[in-house]
Amino acid sequence: MLPGSFVQRSRKCGKPTCRCAAGEKLHAQFLLSVLVEGKPKTFHVPAARADEVRSKVEQRKRFEEAAARIAHLNLRRFLRRKGNQ
Ligand SMILES: [Zn+2]
Repeated sequence: MLPGSFVQRSRKCGKPTCRCAAGEKLHAQFLLSVLVEGKPKTFHVPAARADEVRSKVEQRKRFEEAAARIAHLNLRRFLRRKGNQ
């Protein structure tokens, strides 16, 4: 699992002779955007690891969604039982 958001951007590199100069076939850039000690940080992700990082961020989101569902179920249970004790 990884914290934060996975971001994919397309950009021009700035070289006038590059394939990206015409505005087509831009370069893909991958970033991991994370709050570190309350401050937003952005980390470059190498293209070779983009799929891995993307799926680890997704995995964490699913984990958090599942945890939130369980917590809400427990809240309902708690509210139901509270008055009977
Ligand atoms: Zn380029």
